[in-house]
Amino acid sequence: MCIRAHMDFLASDALRGRGSGTADELVAATYVGAQLEQYGIEPAGDNGTFIQQAPVVRRRLTAPPQLRFMTPGDGIPALTILWTHGKEMLALDLTDAKFKGPLKSVDTDLGGASLQQTAFSTSPTQAVPVAPTSDAVVLLRGKDQEKIRAATFAAVEGGAIAVLVPASADVLKNWDERGKELPKLPEKLEGSASGPALAEGGLNLFALSREALADLNGIPDGTTFYLETVVGPPENRSTWNAVGKITGSDPRLRKSVILLSAHLDHLGIGPPVNGDAIYNGADDDASGTVAVLELARVLAGGPRPKRTVIFALFGSEEAGGLGSAWFEQHPPMPLAEIAANLEFEMIGRRDPKYPGDSLWLSGWARSNLGPALAAHGAKLVADARPEEHFFLRSDNYVLARKGVVAQTASSFGLHADYHQPSDDIAHIDFKHMTAVIGSLIGPVEWLVNSAFRPRWNAGGRP
Ligand SMILES: [Zn+2]
Repeated sequence: MCIRAHMDFLASDALRGRGSGTADELVAATYVGAQLEQYGIEPAGDNGTFIQQAPVVRRRLTAPPQLRFMTPGDGIPALTILWTHGKEMLALDLTDAKFKGPLKSVDTDLGGASLQQTAFSTSPTQAVPVAPTSDAVVLLRGKDQEKIRAATFAAVEGGAIAVLVPASADVLKNWDERGKELPKLPEKLEGSASGPALAEGGLNLFALSREALADLNGIPDGTTFYLETVVGPPENRSTWNAVGKITGSDPRLRKSVILLSAHLDHLGIGPPVNGDAIYNGADDDASGTVAVLELARVLAGGPRPKRTVIFALFGSEEAGGLGSAWFEQHPPMPLAEIAANLEFEMIGRRDPKYPGDSLWLSGWARSNLGPALAAHGAKLVADARPEEHFFLRSDNYVLARKGVVAQTASSFGLHADYHQPSDDIAHIDFKHMTAVIGSLIGPVEWLVNSAFRPRWNAGGRP
C-alpha cells in the first residue's frame, strides 16, 4: 500500500524528524520529487528538477535580550527601566533582533466598549480586544489565560510588533531553566526584511515577572519600548521544496491552476522525551505530504486534468513558513493564475470532535471553497475550533495573504503527541488516513476539471 510505504519512509528514524533546513529535509524533498517523477509528473523546481532551493539566513543571539523604556518623569527625573531575559522577563518568542514601539495596555478581563469581535479573528463565544494595535507593544493584563491567549492572536492580527503577558504558572515554574537559554531568532529568507509569515513563531512575545508588572504601574500608553539584542554573524543555509506539475489539457483552464500542498519538514532532533529525541512528525506533516503524493499518483494515472495542477511540498514550515514564502515569491507560474490552494495538515489521526473520517477546513466561512468541495462529495466540515486560529498557522496563510484562496484540510484533534517525539508511525490511524485520502479523490478530480474559481466571502480575505 502506497500510503503505508511513504509514511514508513518519511516518518522513519532514518529521516531523523526532517528538521527544517537540514540535510534530512533535503532527503525528504528528494524522495518526494522521485515519487512525483515516477508518476509521470513534470518537474517544476529549479533548472528542470523537482527541487526548489531557498536561501536562508540564520542569526543567533550572543547575549540575553533586553527590553528598555523610560518612566514619564513628570516633576521627578525620568528613570530608565531595563528588563533582562531570565531576570525580569522571559522572551518566549522572538522574530526581531530589535524593535521599538509605543505601549498599548489592554485589560482582557474587561468587557464593553474597548472590546470588539470580528467574524474571523476570534472565537464565537469570546470577545477579545482587536482594537488598533498596529506597530504597538501590546500589554495584555488579566487573569484568564484563555482570554490572554485569544487576545495575543488578536493583537498579532491587529499588527502588534510585540505582546507582553503576565507569566503563567507554567512559565513561572520553568523560569530559571528557560532564562538560562538564549531565545532563538527565526531564520529568514535571504534578502527579506520581515520575519517569518506564520503567526506561530511570527511574534515577539514576552512573559513578565511580578517585578516587571510592578514596574509598569503608572507607565502611560504611548511610552516607547525598545528591544535590544546582541547578534552574531549571519550563517547562510538553505531549505528545500519539492514541486511538480501536470499542465492542464484545456488551453483556457490551463491558466487557472489548482495548488495541492503540504509541508515535508518537521522539528528534527530535539530535547529527548522518555529517551526519544527524534521528532518523527508522522501526523505533522508526513500525513499531509502523503495525501498530496497519493492525489498526484491518481491524477497522473488518469485522463489529463483540464486545469494545471501544482503539487508543492514545502520545507521549513516549522521555521515559520519559509519554503512556502519562497514559493510564493518564485512560483512556477504567476501567482494570479493560482485559483485555489488546498493544503493538507495532520490527517493521520481522527479528530474525536467529528464523526467518521471527516476533515475540517481551516477558515471555512472565509471562502466558498469548502462548501463547493463538500457539495461534490468531500467529507469536509467547518473548523469547530476558531479559537485555535488554524487558518493562520499553516502554509496556506502565506498564500492567502497574497490573495490566493488558500485553506488547510486537517483532522487534527489537539492530540497530546503534537510536536512531541511520540508523533510517530505507531500513533497513525491508517484506516482513517486511507479513508480521508480516498474520499478526496472524487472532489479533487471535479475541482481540477471544472471552471469553478473560489472566491473570498466578504471580510474573509486576510
Ligand atoms: Zn504542520
